[in-house]
Amino acid sequence: MILKIKCPKCKTDGSISLADTTYEGPYRCWKCKALFTIKMHNNQLLSCEPLSQEDFERQQEIDALKKKISGK
Ligand SMILES: [Zn+2]
Repeated sequence: MILKIKCPKCKTDGSISLADTTYEGPYRCWKCKALFTIKMHNNQLLSCEPLSQEDFERQQEIDALKKKISGK
């Protein structure tokens, strides 16, 4: 499914494809490249918090590390 998101920063409509109706993770605006952490449940956007590039990279590192540990 595709969730439509309006960028809070530049008001550009974007979308994110999801495997589930519940999602918590990063979203990057394709236009202004702003990063946000979005939370959604049952196709409803619960929150959209600005995310710094630094925090985003840290998150990516944690995810990579988790994958390494789980052997996937
Ligand atoms: Zn934007």
